[in-house]
Amino acid sequence: MRLADDTTLVESLRIAVPLYLADLLTRPAADRAAAAHRWRAAGASAIGERGDLLQFVDLGRTEAKRLKVANTFEQLARGLAALVVLHPDGVSVAGLHWCLQPDCQRCQPPRPEPAMTLADINAQLEALDADYRRTAGLPPWTPPTPDAAPPTPLPQTRRHPTITLHLPEVA
Ligand SMILES: [Zn+2]
Repeated sequence: MRLADDTTLVESLRIAVPLYLADLLTRPAADRAAAAHRWRAAGASAIGERGDLLQFVDLGRTEAKRLKVANTFEQLARGLAALVVLHPDGVSVAGLHWCLQPDCQRCQPPRPEPAMTLADINAQLEALDADYRRTAGLPPWTPPTPDAAPPTPLPQTRRHPTITLHLPEVA
């Protein structure tokens, strides 16, 4: 399996790397460079030592193992974010791309045109419905006629009867 076919990993990176990148970019320049070098080194070690945990994920593992997988993923995502900061041309992994170039078309590829429009879908649904009605021997569907009767008026609010109390005067 190619890395790009690992949907869980790719979609997780798609979210995580920009977040770590934002973390780096909001730091002061000196701190940013130091953190990027640290994250790059840690990411390289983690992937070198435990990269197989991300490659062969098995669900029957213990909590400790799960944490190890999560930590390895975090190191990978941080390492990639660090590479983006350290290499302004950017990083491309498994069909994903991140860089610091403004207006980069690879970072924000244009959305593909949908293969079908809503009108196409509705036409197909109507054809299916007509086909079903023919098969089931039902008459063709006709839209319900709106009720000609005027709407029922709201009931009048009831007025409570007035009760007058005659209290004896107190001397
Ligand atoms: Zn880019």
